[in-house]
Amino acid sequence: MTYQTTNPATDELVERFASWTEDELESALAQVSAITPLWAATPLPERCRLLNRLAEVIRGQQESLAQLVSLEMGKLIAESRAEVEKCALGCEFYAAQAATFLADERVETDARKSLVVYQPIGTVLAVMPWNFPLWQVFRFVAPTLAAGNTGLLKHASNVPQCALAIERLVQEAGFPDGVFRTLMIDARDVEGVIADARVQAVTLTGSEPAGRSVGAAAGKHLKKSVLELGGSDAFVVLEDADLEHTVQQAVVSRFMNCGQSCIAAKRFIVVEDIAEAFVSRFVQAVQALNVGDPVNETTTLAPMARPDLRDELHTQVQASIAAGAVLVTGGEPVAGPGAYYQATILDQVAPGMVAYEQELFGPVASVIRVADEAQALAVSNASRFGLGGSVWTQDSERGERFARQMQCGSAFVNGLVKSDPRLPFGGIKASGYGRELSHHGLREFVNAKTLWVR
Ligand code: NAP
Repeated sequence: MTYQTTNPATDELVERFASWTEDELESALAQVSAITPLWAATPLPERCRLLNRLAEVIRGQQESLAQLVSLEMGKLIAESRAEVEKCALGCEFYAAQAATFLADERVETDARKSLVVYQPIGTVLAVMPWNFPLWQVFRFVAPTLAAGNTGLLKHASNVPQCALAIERLVQEAGFPDGVFRTLMIDARDVEGVIADARVQAVTLTGSEPAGRSVGAAAGKHLKKSVLELGGSDAFVVLEDADLEHTVQQAVVSRFMNCGQSCIAAKRFIVVEDIAEAFVSRFVQAVQALNVGDPVNETTTLAPMARPDLRDELHTQVQASIAAGAVLVTGGEPVAGPGAYYQATILDQVAPGMVAYEQELFGPVASVIRVADEAQALAVSNASRFGLGGSVWTQDSERGERFARQMQCGSAFVNGLVKSDPRLPFGGIKASGYGRELSHHGLREFVNAKTLWVR
């Protein structure tokens, strides 16, 4: 795939970027490799000072960055602004916490002194998706640079200007040249970078096929890897849920970012007693969404990021309907230019259907009706994925008991699944392995070294 900016709201090709030559890649790798030991030796307070400065630089350009995100992948402008702010907060979080997360840990043994010390491992490659084109990268950049590692980015080919903007922001904050570089390379060249002796680890956020490919390359070359892959999160509505609040949150969780979030609620597992009432209110709320230009402040449903993704989603919807799912609203691409898809609800989704088994990465909600709480839990866990999940009930103790049994990396009670720098983020099963954010994320890419002194 070549790098290009195409406006998803209009299909207009804005700009094309050539992929790098071998020489250009070699020059970037050499630059990063040269700075890596110097950056590792830079005192932590200085690394943290620069991260705080990075937060200021990001905030200073909030509007232009937000406009760029909306231009390249079609997000609602208000969501783009919130994404920019989250990047600044992520930098500040690691600037404030790195000293605690990286502090030596004394352990009593038979030694006079024994401890765990957390040391940088070198250069980490990040392969990133387009759906949160700034936040996905900053949640890698902040802990990586705080830990004293250097970073490389291979971003998704439809957000090249965001990729270049991130490199520029790091430079403008005053970090030494080369501690973070954007590589304009094709996906097929990723394995070569993983194999390179100057690269010590790789993290990928993206689809399952990309995860398999990067995970295999990391294994082949014995490099540490973290994989943040797809999800088909359960949104479990028990019969005692607060219906109005639950429906409102269901709409946000499924249709935010035009449904293109790994932790969006995708499978609405609803207990039969409340299902009719839930579906009718859900349909009403979804039909009120206002499809339009993402930079228009009154729009509430943006286009999808690319027409091919929209077409793939439509194929999944059609296959599900052919297999017996009931189309309650939407179900068609929106006529005219742009990668728009109608806000869609499928009811009576059942095992074997595409909407039950696969991830639907767009504005389509699948309702699965179940007899009771026990069946809700069984269905919730009967997924290849295990990223996040939520349960909705007015009895929070019941909710917590349920959430503890959900097979996923993040389980929320009466709240939609979201990432928070203070809490670990990641999945199990086909949703990947490893964690981002909190001290868990930072410690994925450090050498937890035992130091033993008699
Ligand atoms: P994608 O097609 O897998 O692309 C992600 C990144 O991987 C892009 O930079 C892409 O480059 C690259 N890539 C693709 N195939 C590759 C390969 N064989 N080897 C090396 N790199 C490869 O995913 P996407 O469509 O951008 O994102 C949507 C998916 O990401 C969904 O499944 C979503 O759930 C998941 N996601 C997960 C999380 C999480 O934290 N768990 C967060 C966000 C999204 P090109 O663009 O050049 O192809």
